[in-house]
Amino acid sequence: MTWKLDCGSYTLFVIEDGYYWRDTTGYHDDATDHDWRFHPRNDSGQVRMNFGCYLITNGDRTVMIDAGIGDRPGGPPGMTAGLMPSAVDALGIDRTSVDTVVYTHMHYDHIGGSQRDGRVVFPNARHVFHSKEWEHWSEADGDLARAARDIMAPLLEADLVDFIDQDTEVLPGVSAIEAFGHTPGHLCVSVMSDGTRTLIGGDVSNHPFQVENPHWSLPVDNDPVHAGRTRDRVFDDLRQSGATFLAGHYPMPGVGKIVIDDGVRVYQPGSVASVS
Ligand SMILES: [Zn+2]
Repeated sequence: MTWKLDCGSYTLFVIEDGYYWRDTTGYHDDATDHDWRFHPRNDSGQVRMNFGCYLITNGDRTVMIDAGIGDRPGGPPGMTAGLMPSAVDALGIDRTSVDTVVYTHMHYDHIGGSQRDGRVVFPNARHVFHSKEWEHWSEADGDLARAARDIMAPLLEADLVDFIDQDTEVLPGVSAIEAFGHTPGHLCVSVMSDGTRTLIGGDVSNHPFQVENPHWSLPVDNDPVHAGRTRDRVFDDLRQSGATFLAGHYPMPGVGKIVIDDGVRVYQPGSVASVS
């Protein structure tokens, strides 16, 4: 599915690249049913886990934030993925008109969709990453690093990659912001326009229970302590500013506010119109 938000002079689409169903056990030892309250459940009591990405346009410039998993083999059993390109087509947006793709980090569920059938999905776009991200994944061991190198190769080969090494405005009011911890060069993306502020969090948080418990790290956090500190800071900032928070692994569309309820900082899902 795809959802639409107005962000000042920009239109932002939340695009679901895929999802899978999983048991709640083994995710975080301290998580209770209450902590899973935002997730849809199936008849077996499993919860739906999502992979979201984003398209931002003002009619003149078109930017993607993350690209989803794409059609890579592997992933959890029963996973549906690789829906992003057809979702962009369904919006009537020519993929060759996308001029920039900002990737929050190099985990395969965020960069895998940059290619399909061996071809770059956004061939005219600059593909933006933090330099610390590639410094890490180009050298690291393990499956995540191998997948990152595999997916990055055609982008680097075609000279489509721009590395940034500080907070960077990619188009007026849209900035990639350092938020390290989940990975060494993780970015969030801030959209400020006409007095509105929206933050695309990437994997700064993978689950709504981390709003209440920022230091509950998941195994996917590269540096759990740093990730927890960054989450806490980002959520405090969101609470104080009242900005809208977007999270691609929260239950879709993953759009909400960070508020204080009964003295506790919590996630408050918002209601957003779906377009398909
Ligand atoms: Zn992720």
